Amino acid sequence: MKEYVPRSGELFVVSGPSGAGKGTICRRLMEDPEEDQLMLSVSATTRAPREGEVDGVNYYFLSREEFEKRIENEEFLEYAEVYGNLYGTPLQPVLDTLAQGKDVLLEIDTQGAAKVKGTYPEGIFLFILPPSMRVLRQRLEGRGTDTQEVIERRLANTKAEVEEIGMYDYYVLNDDLEEAVATAKSILRAERTRVEKYALDLIRKFEEEE
Ligand code: 5GP
Repeated sequence: MKEYVPRSGELFVVSGPSGAGKGTICRRLMEDPEEDQLMLSVSATTRAPREGEVDGVNYYFLSREEFEKRIENEEFLEYAEVYGNLYGTPLQPVLDTLAQGKDVLLEIDTQGAAKVKGTYPEGIFLFILPPSMRVLRQRLEGRGTDTQEVIERRLANTKAEVEEIGMYDYYVLNDDLEEAVATAKSILRAERTRVEKYALDLIRKFEEEE
């Protein structure tokens, strides 16, 4: 029999084009009282804070120099340049959380997800898919937060991102938000009941209570 290893947490990686609703879906997962063992990783970025964003809550806002120093020191699980800014996942908090048996949620772009897949293939990769380019355009324009130029750039990038979907384990179609949230929740639950990962843990717990 294999040596017993206590359950380490799951690493859930969520990507998808901007406007696909991944931020909303992740927030809804974090607000779910049943997801009290799920931690949202706070990324570092060199982009300027948007109105209302708080350092250490939405992101760790760093200068490019500081960010590059942390790359040198191998402090990131992954990092990528997105729309001219650097974004990265601080490594240590992820390792600590997983070691405590808690799950981690990363909301990162497809380049970052590809890197995590290379270094941590046990991760579970979810892609939030908007129903169509047309709906995505409507959402981005309706949001009113970006200029037309930025919207065009995001839409062009979307095509490239959607082509990366083959790397993911699941897609969550965000046509209807409630349904998309329910799908994401059921993926998390199902992944936590995989026998291949938890059989030894289960047997031990089962036998302990005689
Ligand atoms: P925003 O500037 O709109 O907050 O984020 C822009 C993009 O960067 C989004 O696609 C978001 O998922 C991605 N992103 C945020 N944090 C990280 C990170 O730590 N690593 C990577 N690779 N992408 C990130």
